[in-house]
Amino acid sequence: MFGAVIHAPGDVRYEQRPDPEIVEPTDAVVRTVAACVCGSDLWRYRGLAPVPRPVPIGHEFCGVVEAVGDAVTVVKPGDFVVGGFNPSDNVCPVCRKGATANCINGDHYAGCQAEKIRVPQAEGTLVATPGMPDDDLIPSLLALSDVMCTGWHAAVSAGVGPDTTVAVVGDGAVGLCAVLAAVQLGAPTVIAMSRHESRQQLAREFGATHVVAERDDAGIAAVRELTNGIGADCVLECVGTEQARLQATGCVRDGGNIGMVGLPHGDLPMIDLFWRNVGVKGGPAHCRTYLPDLMEKVLARTINPGLVFDLELPLAEIGEAYAAMDERRAIKSLVRP
Ligand SMILES: [Zn+2]
Repeated sequence: MFGAVIHAPGDVRYEQRPDPEIVEPTDAVVRTVAACVCGSDLWRYRGLAPVPRPVPIGHEFCGVVEAVGDAVTVVKPGDFVVGGFNPSDNVCPVCRKGATANCINGDHYAGCQAEKIRVPQAEGTLVATPGMPDDDLIPSLLALSDVMCTGWHAAVSAGVGPDTTVAVVGDGAVGLCAVLAAVQLGAPTVIAMSRHESRQQLAREFGATHVVAERDDAGIAAVRELTNGIGADCVLECVGTEQARLQATGCVRDGGNIGMVGLPHGDLPMIDLFWRNVGVKGGPAHCRTYLPDLMEKVLARTINPGLVFDLELPLAEIGEAYAAMDERRAIKSLVRP
């Protein structure tokens, strides 16, 4: 089969790889229907994280089960499935608390931007749709394997609910999904922070009540003005850079919460957060915990997170899928074998 391999920064190749096989009885092999490029894949593509040797890349997919190991009972060959980016057994003591991203037996994929994928811990990871989904739902189902769960996690971590004001820092695919999550969780005020016209539009389509185009001090002042001068109850930080985290810190009200899902680079101003009683929680999303509910919402066409994909290419053009996101020509690239 063919799949994507990152050789060096800026160098992702479509090349032949061995067909994945069942190794452990808890494995499944999935034939990919769609996969995509993650903002976190770009850290290596941009040389901000090391690439010591060529490795298969990608961790988001949906597809059809081709084979299962002896211990897998919840899915069978022919099922259409989505799996979160962080495989989990869903039965260990940590998973039972809902923290599946931190599963004691957690595992990872060896490259999902490929024609076929070996899924470890398939029993606890894969969630099947009832029957074959309509083709137009594929992007939204694919979004559940990472970005939508991650946006949801930001909102849940920050305690978003019907009485909360929310500001979202970051207008990438995760930030936009965080807007959608906050709206779904009932927040009456959802402020999207974005300078880009097309992303502002999508944020509004997802239900953002306000858009703030300013950044830094001006952005913070604008958010405070929209929130009775005190700042937002919940700030969803979906970037991870130091600038984004300072923005989040400035936008949150005293006693409020920051939900943090951007991969952190740099420290938080802990002393400031301490005196202001600001809570910070977040990390990788508990995909398996969120998947059934979010899948139901997609299949009922209540949410359409697949709108974050604004570029679709054949898997063979995976290099261009990366370049387009790197050069911000695309919010998020979807690829199909
Ligand atoms: Zn577990």
